Amino acid sequence: MKTTMKMLTASLALAISGMAVMPVASAADKGAIGISMPTKSSMRWIADGDNMVKVFKERGYKTDLQFADDDIPNQLAQVENMITKGAKVLVIAAIDGTTLSNVLQKAADKGIKVISYDRLIRGTKNIDYYATFDNFQVGVLQAGYIESALKLKEGKGPFNIELFGGSADDNNAHFFYNGALSVLKPYIDSGKLVVRSKQMGMEKVATLRWDGAVAQARMDNLLSAYYGNARVDAVLSPYDGLSIGILSSLKGVGYGTPKQPFPVVTGQDAEIPSVKSIIRGEQASTVFKDTRELAKVTANMVDAMMSGKTPTVNDTKTYNNGVKVVPSYLLKPVTVDKANWKQVLVTGSGYYTEAQVK
Ligand code: BGC
Repeated sequence: MKTTMKMLTASLALAISGMAVMPVASAADKGAIGISMPTKSSMRWIADGDNMVKVFKERGYKTDLQFADDDIPNQLAQVENMITKGAKVLVIAAIDGTTLSNVLQKAADKGIKVISYDRLIRGTKNIDYYATFDNFQVGVLQAGYIESALKLKEGKGPFNIELFGGSADDNNAHFFYNGALSVLKPYIDSGKLVVRSKQMGMEKVATLRWDGAVAQARMDNLLSAYYGNARVDAVLSPYDGLSIGILSSLKGVGYGTPKQPFPVVTGQDAEIPSVKSIIRGEQASTVFKDTRELAKVTANMVDAMMSGKTPTVNDTKTYNNGVKVVPSYLLKPVTVDKANWKQVLVTGSGYYTEAQVK
């Protein structure tokens, strides 16, 4: 009896200690994820980084989060360092989608998996999956907002519009622009929308490094060269940081009064300064992309790969990186304006508190 009890206690103790130790052991065993983000100059990337650290930690991974200050050699060095330190998986939002081939070959040689995060990495076979939003749809939403604000479908017009693109080395910028033009082009062709500067096409309208100051300077030039005696009615802006620059330029020449209201200016990312601007009635709209969801999708991909399963994707056609079509998971972007900001960003998703944006 005594021996049985002893044995029982011993095996119970073993079981308990086993139970207690196991999750910790497996957590530690899950290894490190290298997370390479492009810049801290935009709040969205800070949120992406924070959200990923949170979900990966919850799932038992270690994380190495680095921001590259929008400097390409810096990003390469950071990723190389992650490889040296023994990361199991790299999650990379590239500054320039074409510059990572060599470093990713090194990763592949060590069997490290790679997820292209938000922005497609081009020109290499050495990426496994792509987690992003429906980037073409982002452009469709931005242009659709202009279309309905100006009542173009109802035949109103002609209106003057100017077009801005993102950084040409970011694959997304082309998807945003093409998505937007899929809506705007018929109105431009029919003369209901007039681009007085005639500056169209990414080679003319791109904004290197998504820099708001560059957009502001270009808007200054457009206004002085083409709008001396005309009004600009809409500005297609692909990103909130550019929209803020464009709006300052417009303010500089007297827009933003009851007599001369702002044109319809779009945006993307629902960054706090832009949400505040929307609430004040300046920027017209933005596109919200829930970075918490993108972090989850990414972590799901990592978990699946690490356990020998195939990650869930919902697009296997759209994203050809020049070498292969990268299996992708696309999340849905959502338009935000003065009418729905509270519902979408505060009460519906809890992405922000009301105090943060007011
Ligand atoms: C992202 C956008 C962002 C832009 C500038 C793009 O690649 O998809 O959400 O506005 O970069 O940071």
